[in-house]
Amino acid sequence: MNAYLHIPFCTSICSYCDFTSFAGQEGRMGAYADALCLEIAGSDLAGPLETVYFGGGTPSLLPPEKVGRILEALRAKAGFDPEVEISMEANPETVDADRLGRYRASGVNRLSFGAQAMQKEILKKLGRGHEWDRVEQAFGSARKAGFQNVNLDLMLGLPGQSPEMFRESLQGAAALGPEHLSLYALQVEEGTPLARQVAEGLALPNEDEAADEYAWAQDFLARQGFEQYEVSNFSRPGRPCRHNWNIWRGGDYWGFGVSAVGTVKGIRHSHGEDLAEYIRQAQGGEGVTLQREILPAPVRAWEKVMLGLRTREGVEESAVEPYLRGRSATHGEGFKRLLKEGLLSLSNGRYQVSPKGYFVLNGILGVLAA
Ligand code: SF4
Repeated sequence: MNAYLHIPFCTSICSYCDFTSFAGQEGRMGAYADALCLEIAGSDLAGPLETVYFGGGTPSLLPPEKVGRILEALRAKAGFDPEVEISMEANPETVDADRLGRYRASGVNRLSFGAQAMQKEILKKLGRGHEWDRVEQAFGSARKAGFQNVNLDLMLGLPGQSPEMFRESLQGAAALGPEHLSLYALQVEEGTPLARQVAEGLALPNEDEAADEYAWAQDFLARQGFEQYEVSNFSRPGRPCRHNWNIWRGGDYWGFGVSAVGTVKGIRHSHGEDLAEYIRQAQGGEGVTLQREILPAPVRAWEKVMLGLRTREGVEESAVEPYLRGRSATHGEGFKRLLKEGLLSLSNGRYQVSPKGYFVLNGILGVLAA
């Protein structure tokens, strides 16, 4: 089994952010950690846990002893597999060697730093709270603290980001020697400050430019010994993020905390987004209210196709055929066109998106979903 814990605290909110996160609520972190422990204890979680993932928000704002208590609650409830992967997202400016050492001592064994870009003017525009020297310091401190599995997140298609700037950022990140790199194309999400800035005329790199950078990155990272195992994720051989890999393969996982979602045995559970209400429910003794939905067979079939196509493994022909049977003739034509154009391939009984197709994955999934 696998567990995701949402830690919804940030010191400030980035202009592009669409995650559930609150600034200025750090005073509630203690009560929130208690609430998570209560939710875990009262849940049907059954182990042993193979992966645990602290996502956010900024989980590295949570004091190490609180992270340790949450992990103890998970261990007491479900136990850990001896090889358990325990990942934590961290913002570089929130950690130092001592703090990282204490996270490591509490059981965390994988870190994911939000590095995003090397140039200070870009980081500032995004509303990030760090500069590149903090990424380097945090990475060095992580190594000193004993972390042997570290990811760096980078972004492309950012406002003011030239191809040279992107390349410099990726080269700088790779030079640090991480086991894993995630590369996200900027998405302009409705309702964010960035969406308003774009509506008011803020220019973004055009699609062709971003596609070229992505192709350059695929080539560069392959030459550096990284394997691309998902549309946005590259790792050293044998070092993919096991937690996310499980989700893309359609595996079960529990979600805990505000806005967290999970799926266990075909039933999806999700939480509300109200922080105070979550704490009240957990501590009030009546248990946290979860929305539960039995996923209908067509939804499960579509999710299997959609998630599988994000990965290098692709998806079995036998999983795609039943999905296709229920679709229209136009849809079948679209599918054939993707195969003909080489964006999709079928070999050894599996459909896979080609490396050049990854950049237009949303378009491909749009054709398949039509
Ligand atoms: S650090 Fe991450 S979660 Fe927090 S505001 Fe920025 S993008 Fe959102």
